Amino acid sequence: MTRRMMIAGNWKMNLGHDEALALASALAQSVVVTTEVEIAIFPPFPWLLPVRAVLGESGILLGAQTCHQTDFGAFTGEVSAQMLAPICDVILAGHSERRQLFGESDALVGEKVAAILAAGSRAVLCVGETLAERDAGNAANVVTRQLSAGLRSVSGAALERVIVAYEPVWAIGTGVAATASDAQAMCGATRKWLREHFGAAGAEVGVLYGGSVTPDNALELFSQPDIDGALVGGASLKADSFARIVAAGSASRAR
Ligand code: PEP
Repeated sequence: MTRRMMIAGNWKMNLGHDEALALASALAQSVVVTTEVEIAIFPPFPWLLPVRAVLGESGILLGAQTCHQTDFGAFTGEVSAQMLAPICDVILAGHSERRQLFGESDALVGEKVAAILAAGSRAVLCVGETLAERDAGNAANVVTRQLSAGLRSVSGAALERVIVAYEPVWAIGTGVAATASDAQAMCGATRKWLREHFGAAGAEVGVLYGGSVTPDNALELFSQPDIDGALVGGASLKADSFARIVAAGSASRAR
């Protein structure tokens, strides 16, 4: 398998300055970045620069949790991909909390992905269905719609800088992860869609699973053929649990 794994920690709006730097420092000292497993953390905006300094040469990637779709302008309080790209390696687009709590539409998320790639950064496009959508049998349709809009403007070599995170909304922050087989089914369908739309290069796009990943369920999830890692929320806020998830990633590749 040539696809590289990524274990990504989304800190959301958590951790004060000192806690954030302590966590980054602990990770820089404890986790091992390999050619097979990339590690990324997504601190709140104000901690990006100090965390970058703490990460030093650790090889841990730095990410932002969102961005504005426009480069510059009268958008009080917003931060553009253009501003983040020199600091960050990767930027999230379309996390379900952005979609649900901040009204981000599929089309807007597509504009954000385009802005991230144009700024030269890597994009993690988050997709995933709600429980009501799953119960109605619409999970695959919803994810397909989000992929289609989210990647609408992506072409050519820029695809190499795209990662997709399948995150069922009902599994995020609930403690109820998708079963490994359900997660595999949706990540497999995502990869099939990517192959159909982008050809062989589409099949090489990293597809992460997100939703209540813990050190206890990580290895089983990572052992699925179409799951290339995880976007982790709660369990990324403690160095020990995040490091154990990273270790599960490495173990799954050593098999
Ligand atoms: C997330 O916020 O993307 C997430 C998956 O959170 P948690 O791991 O806490 O479910």
